[in-house]
Order: sequence, then C-alpha cells, then structure tokens
Amino acid sequence: MMDFGQQFVIQNSTLLRSDHGKKDFFLLQSESGLRVILQLILPIIFLLLLSIALPGPVHAADDALAQKIHQIQDFSDRNNEEGIKQLQQLKQNLPPNASAQARLNLIEVLSGLLYDAGRVKEANALYDEYKSLAQQLNDKETLVLISIFDAFDVYEKSGFDAANEHLDKLAAEVEKRSSVVRYRYAWARAQLSFAQGKFDGALKQYLLMLDLIEQLPRRQLQARMYTWQQISNLYLSGLKDAKKSYEATTEALAVSSALTMPKAYVEILIVRGAALSQLKRNHEALKEYDTALGIARQEGLPFAEAAALFNIADQYLILKDYRRAEQAARDSIAVSERLEDKFSKMGAQVNLGLALAYQGKIKQGVDLVNESIEFFRKNSGKQAIESINGELAAMYESAGMYKEALVLMHEKQALSEELYQAEQAKESAKLQEEFNAEQRKKQIELLGKDNALKDADIRNHRLRQMVTLLASIIAALAGCFIYMLYRRSKKLNAQLREMNTQLEFHAVRDPLTGLHNRRSFITLMSTRVARVENERREGPYGNPDCMILLDIDHFKHINDTWGHSVGDMVLKEVATRLRSVVRDEDMVMRWGGEEFLIFSPKSNPEQITNLVERVLRTIGEDTFMHGNLPIPVTVTAGFISVPFSDVPEDICDWERALQIADMALYLGKTHGRNRAYGLAKLLVPHEDAIPTLTHDLAAAIKQNMVEVIEVLGPPQTQAHV
Ligand code: GH3
Ligand code: MG
Ligand code: MG
Repeated sequence: MMDFGQQFVIQNSTLLRSDHGKKDFFLLQSESGLRVILQLILPIIFLLLLSIALPGPVHAADDALAQKIHQIQDFSDRNNEEGIKQLQQLKQNLPPNASAQARLNLIEVLSGLLYDAGRVKEANALYDEYKSLAQQLNDKETLVLISIFDAFDVYEKSGFDAANEHLDKLAAEVEKRSSVVRYRYAWARAQLSFAQGKFDGALKQYLLMLDLIEQLPRRQLQARMYTWQQISNLYLSGLKDAKKSYEATTEALAVSSALTMPKAYVEILIVRGAALSQLKRNHEALKEYDTALGIARQEGLPFAEAAALFNIADQYLILKDYRRAEQAARDSIAVSERLEDKFSKMGAQVNLGLALAYQGKIKQGVDLVNESIEFFRKNSGKQAIESINGELAAMYESAGMYKEALVLMHEKQALSEELYQAEQAKESAKLQEEFNAEQRKKQIELLGKDNALKDADIRNHRLRQMVTLLASIIAALAGCFIYMLYRRSKKLNAQLREMNTQLEFHAVRDPLTGLHNRRSFITLMSTRVARVENERREGPYGNPDCMILLDIDHFKHINDTWGHSVGDMVLKEVATRLRSVVRDEDMVMRWGGEEFLIFSPKSNPEQITNLVERVLRTIGEDTFMHGNLPIPVTVTAGFISVPFSDVPEDICDWERALQIADMALYLGKTHGRNRAYGLAKLLVPHEDAIPTLTHDLAAAIKQNMVEVIEVLGPPQTQAHV
C-alpha cells in the first residue's frame, strides 16, 4: 500500500499541456456556436503554449524513477518525439514495486507530451487513466488539478458563467494547495478571461502567475518564459498595445536566451517582429524575422521557417520592396509545399500575388490572390468574412465609394452580432454596446456622405478598375490575418514533425564534454543587442549578466605527463564539476581547447563572487583521480559583467567585455594561477577608461581606472612545474 500520509505534490503542468491538446480536441469536435470564438482565441493560446511542464517529485521511494522522468521531460523541450518514446518505454518496463504516484507522474508527463505532438486520442486515453488513478488513490492535490481543468469542459457545455462559477467554487480549496496548483488555477482563470475578452482580468492572472513562479519547485524558467509569452500575446491581440507586447517579448527572450529551447525562442522572435511591425518599426521587425529565419534554418524548424518567410514577405510589402517580397514569398511557398501545408502555402501565395501585382504583373498577381481568397473563404469561419468585409469597407470608404461601404458595414454588423450572440452576450454586453455604438456612428456618417455625393460621378471607369485591384489586395491582407490565426492552431500538430528535425540540435554541443559550444553561445548572443539594447530593467531585473572565462592551468603538462586521453578525461571531469556548481539558468560552454565559459544571467556581484569561489574550489579542492592516479588540476579565471559598470553595450558589448575578461585571466596566470580576477566597476568615466582597458588591463589598473576583485583558489599541496 501507498503511504498517502506523505505530502504528495503533482507538479507536472499536464494541465497546461493537456489543456491545449484538449481544447484542440474541442475545436475539432465542437459544432457549437462557440467554435468561432474558439477559433479566434484558441490559436492564440496554442501559439504560445510551449513544451513546458513542471513535474515534481513523485513518491520519495521512487526517487530514481522521479529523477528519470524529470530528465526525460527536460530533454523533451528539445526533442518531443524522443521524449515520448523514452517515457513509453519506461511505462512498459515500470518496476513492479513502482508506486502508484510514480505511475501517476509518468502518465501525466507522457500525456502532456502526446498532446504537444498532436496525438490527441492517445493523450486523452492517458488522461482518463490519470483521472481514474487519481480517484482510486483519492489524491487531493491531483483531484484539485483535475477539477481546475474540468472548467474547460464546463465552459464547452454551459458557457463562461458556469465555467467561472466552477472555478470560483474551487478558490478556497486551491488556496490550501501547493504553488503548482495555484499557478495552474491562475492560468485557467487567465485563459477564460482572455477568451471572454476580459483582457485586464487575464493580465491580472498572468501577473499572479509570475509571482507564483518563484515558488515553483522546478522548471521556473520555462514557466517564466511561457508566462511572458502569454502576456506579450495578450497585449498584441487583446489589449492592442504593441509597445507593451514588445516589452513582454523582451522579458521572454531574456529568459529563453539562457535556455536552449530554439523553437520557443524563434516563436518569440516572430511575435516580437509582429509587435514591432505594428509599431511601424519596420526595419527592426524585419531584423527579428531575419534572425528567426536564421535560427529556424539552423535548427531545422521548417514550420517556423515558413512563418518567418511569410512575415518577411509581408514586411517587404509594407516597405514597398516588392522584389524582395516576391523572393521571400516564393521561398515561403517552397517550404510550405515541402511540408504539404496548404494553409501556409495559400497565405504565402497572397503575398506573392501582391508582390507581383505591385511590380506590374497585375493579372498574374490578382489571379493568385483570388485563388487564395477563395481558399480561405471555403476553409475559414465567419470570423474570416467579417474581417474581410471590414477591410473592404475601409477600402471603399477611402476610395469615396460610400454606398458600397455602407452595404458592407451592414453585413459586417449582422455577422458580428451573430458571432457575439453565440456566447459572450452577458459578459461582454458593455463591450458589445460600445462596439455597436461605434458601428452605428459609422453608418450615420456614411449615410450622410452617401447623400451628399449621390450625384457625383464616382463611376469613373479607371477608378473602378483601381478599386477592384485594391479590394483584392486588401481582402487578401485580411486573408493573411486569417491564415496567421489558422497557422497558429495548426502549429500544435506541426510540433511532432518539427521535433524530428530538432535532432540536429546536438550540432551545437561539444561532443567530448556535452557542453554547449562556442557556436551556440554566439547564436544566442547574436540577437542580444537588438534585444537588450540599453533597456536594462530596474528592481529584480536590474542585475547584469556575468561571464566567467576559465583556462585550465598547465594543461599541456597534464597531456605531456599522463597522455592525451587522460587530458580528455580531465576536460570531461572539469565540465561535470562546473555544471554541478552553477545555477540552472547558467550556461556552461566549452569555449576552446581547455578554456570554458560560464554565462550567468542577471547575477548580482555577490552571487558572482560566490560562484567564482565555488568554481575554483570545485576544481582545485578534490584532486582528480585517474584510477588510483591523482592528477592535480586547477583553473585560472577572469570575469566581468555585461553591461559592464553601466557602460552602454554599444560601447562595450559582450565580445569586448569577454576580451577584457581574457586579459583578467591572463593577469591571473601571471600572478601564480589557481585564482580569478574580476572587473568590479569603472572608477573613471568610460570615455577615459575603455580605450586603455581593452588594450592593457595592467595599465588601466595602475592608473586607477578600474576596481579589480581577486578570488583565490584552494591552496595546493603540490605545486606544478
Ligand atoms: P597555462 O596554465 O598557461 O594555461 O598552461 P597550458 O599548458 O594550459 O597552456 P595552454 O593553455 O596554451 O595549453 C593548452 C593545451 O591544451 C594545448 C593543447 O594541446 C591542449 N588541448 C587543447 N584541446 C585539447 C583536447 O581536446 N584534449 C586534450 N587532451 N588536450 C587539448
Ligand atoms: Mg589555454
Ligand atoms: Mg591552460
């Protein structure tokens, strides 16, 4: 029998994961009027649901098993399919003495991964197994999680009021539960509020989630990145504040740079590009898309590649660079064809058509656009038509064709009323009223203009021709919008295929030590300037990042004395020890032959000095053993923060800072090794200090330009030659 008295906490976010799979399931099954609303809202949710999960310890007796499940889950951030395989294997070969809790935990993680992979049926079957097991065990924590999740069933059956009521009833129980339960509760409230158009309410819950993340036992970074992504999307599609959306992506990126989740990273860049585009910061938007494209190609993420190309084409259209727009659209079509993704292809074809039309190939271009519009009309909901109508009306109005605009406005209103009546009626009554008032105002305005211009000759033949072309173009742009929504929801199914190609991800790891290599760090840093710029934040985010460069002392001597393979063993052991002393969010890289780099984001100076001490100690304190052979190993290090001493990064970027750290390391070598020198801060204005500092650290110290910290390694009994 299980020891149920023991505190048992389910910390897997299957809820988050299964949820998007489940809702995808609803989306596919539901014939209700909600479907349209779901179509609008859910893709937004799907887009930003990443492979995040927060599994926790299972029953204490199954520690090794719990460990294994965690490992596979972390690994699945990069390779979902392989994660599924391993968990399925583990499930089949569960030791007979494995606790029910262990089984519960395993099922939870596995079903989450299956939802992510779009294998909804299998995932749902597992979810049922999970449910009945939890009931059988009468595990309170899990049962509360399941009830939270039930809110989405309630919503599907009885609407928002009932779903909210359901959650309200759980509030008191949730308060008594772990941070994981409270986090997911806030998440469920946020998603419902978002879907309901209560954007402020959703934001409030997301902020609460950010607070709760601090208390989560595992995978805080993933949760943080996810939450910021949600916020950026809420601002972009809900609160219509592109600037805030952009800022939120900065937060998300600041977290994801320290992780290696290329897919999430690329997705954030694309949202960020969209926000910049809305802010009319077109060239910057283009840059984000380009970076996204580069990474998508490098990491083998074809869906992201197609999306980036689509956005690039779009952006070039905005910039009126039709030749480049054409090229990007053609590239995008090629990728979509390879993926057999008709929606992506038709979306890209709109861009191609527009690019051609603007270059004078009007017939060819308009035909392509029309073909796409036809496709989207057939394959998207009323939402699509409403949106197209709105755009068309705007175009007619701008062309002075008020009568045509009026007809479309009527149609738009009828459609939107139908849409809104479907569900939101009560909750969004106020919103709806404002919406209607706005539209009525518009109609009255249009009527007036129509009367005034009744006799005017607006049937000018050329004007008509132009208007027809413009109409196609604008309708096509609306098509793009729908396409984007659709593509987002499709993303879920796409993940499986993307994960396959992610095997190549390992190319950015050093084969000997398994650490990140120089290339992966440079890729991460390549987007740093655009990302961080000078917008270092106050408060908890005010700390700069830190880089610690390490070089093994007398490594040649080790090679010469014990042989190259022992040298290799030492490198591996150094890697293991370094990894063991850094924080989860720190990145350890093999920088060169026997040089290592630790990147420690958002670290305060005290933490860094402690970390450097730990590093010197972990290497120098316990002698390395090769069989019975003791091999004394020490390292020398140089460290610096970036931005350094508040100097803007366009004056002292990470590479320059690293150059200074390298000189500090050299200083350590010349002062006897087994020690570290760190640059604390500048003592004079950077205009005076930086030129000397980047060439001659010793001179800069001598001239009192900079404050240097010395950290000594553990004393060595036997000195090296
Ligand atoms: P110092 O204290 O000044 O750093 O002395 P050192 O001997 O470490 O000098 P240096 O850093 O120049 O030597 C680096 C040596 O590391 C030279 C190279 O043969 C060896 N090395 C580089 N990569 C590898 C590797 O992958 N395996 C092994 N076994 N040795 C390597
Ligand atoms: Mg060296
Ligand atoms: Mg060396």
